[in-house]
Amino acid sequence: MATIGFIGVGNMGGPMAINLVKAGHQVKVFDLSAELKAKVVSQGAEGVDSPQAAVANAEFVISMLPSGPIVESLYIHQDKLLDAISDTALVIDCSTIAPENAINLFKAADAKGITTLDAPVSGGVGGATAGTLTFIVGGDDDAFARAKPILSAMGKNVFHAGGHGAGQTAKICNNMLLAIHMVGTAEALQLGVDNGLDPKVLSDIMLQSSGRNWSLELYNPYPGVMETAPASQDYAGGFQVNLMNKDLGLAMEAALKSQSTTPMGTLAKSLYSQHGRNGWGMKDFSSIQRWFDKAE
Ligand code: NAD
Repeated sequence: MATIGFIGVGNMGGPMAINLVKAGHQVKVFDLSAELKAKVVSQGAEGVDSPQAAVANAEFVISMLPSGPIVESLYIHQDKLLDAISDTALVIDCSTIAPENAINLFKAADAKGITTLDAPVSGGVGGATAGTLTFIVGGDDDAFARAKPILSAMGKNVFHAGGHGAGQTAKICNNMLLAIHMVGTAEALQLGVDNGLDPKVLSDIMLQSSGRNWSLELYNPYPGVMETAPASQDYAGGFQVNLMNKDLGLAMEAALKSQSTTPMGTLAKSLYSQHGRNGWGMKDFSSIQRWFDKAE
């Protein structure tokens, strides 16, 4: 059993922290939202009133926050949380942020003798709840080995992508592809519906054909096709359009830096930017389906 400070218990962090409690760890949680914190406390975590109280005496510090500037502000600049963390603790940041943000955190922590890992995840809220997330880790071998049992309580696949920042780079590539196949799936479903097909029948056909992909299989964007998908809950919960826009922005920054060509990612970024500007920012990213049905 380990003592763990967990910061950011939103859509993803909440169920992740609960799985750590279920695995027998002692988990102290902090979030700016008292309501979200209370949800996790009701499942056996200890709620605290500051990030400093969450990390006091913790062997592991885990964060699941919206963006790189927030991660840097918490650990380095505004809250200076690194000052409250023991140099024997391992900091595991699971937020999706730019590789540069992860490297800045590594350098600031390293100067204080604290070890960090970037460990963004894939698998969505469903994976976070079921404890089947994929962790994509960047950092040293020793820290990776130390983190693995903790991460395994929240996920079923734990990959070591490379050095500091490599976890974020791999995650950014994955999410660019996710945006592309979600847009493509929504486009194909709308084409079928506009030409008289039932979206469920078309989905079943494509699932057994060469159009099969993760969005179609686990996250169908057409309302009513998949009962448990955000599309059937008015696109509530899940992975916000705003967060997908952030990740596509990170992909564009990475492409600029490496001078890579990303025509499909660039188009997906334009579509999601427009979709966010049309008022869908807080809804799940599969709501891009609505962009195609002339509702916007
Ligand atoms: P979310 O907005 O639901 O949760 C973020 C939480 O962080 C919120 O509860 C917020 O109150 C809290 N927070 C913000 N600033 C804070 C601070 N300074 N101190 C303490 N708490 C703070 O977002 P989410 O969907 O859980 O996503 C979190 C991260 O996981 C993002 O980086 C996202 O890109 C990534 N991610 C999300 C999904 C998904 O399907 N939702 C999947 C994979 C990765």
